[in-house]
Amino acid sequence: MSEETIFAKIIRGEARADKVYEDEKLLAIKDIQPLAPVHILIIPKKFIRDISQATDEDQDLLGAMLLVATDIARQQGLEEGGYRLAFNCGEDAGLMVPHLHLHLIGGSKLGTPA
Ligand code: AMP
Repeated sequence: MSEETIFAKIIRGEARADKVYEDEKLLAIKDIQPLAPVHILIIPKKFIRDISQATDEDQDLLGAMLLVATDIARQQGLEEGGYRLAFNCGEDAGLMVPHLHLHLIGGSKLGTPA
């Protein structure tokens, strides 16, 4: 069962987003409130609430998210300087949008996460 989130609307084409990548399984968009010069979200089109809800059946999808993230990092010129990939899960991590997404953040010196 899917929750109605802004990402569901973006996936259905009902809300605008700055897309940087799309295939049949995944979408990558620029974060609307970037934390660094490059801040991109890799989002599966399948609804999974957060990483804790992923199952064995999602192994290929999770692998694809990571590989697309590293490809985008390369395209964005982040390989030399480095970058961060992060999933927020639950309230303490500050999860705001309950539809799985992987943050790709880079382009400047990043602070140490809490
Ligand atoms: P999280 O805390 O992991 O749930 O992060 C959700 C991210 O989605 C935040 O970094 C938001 O800035 C970002 N976000 C929310 N709405 C949009 C939107 N319409 N387009 C792009 N990014 C968004």
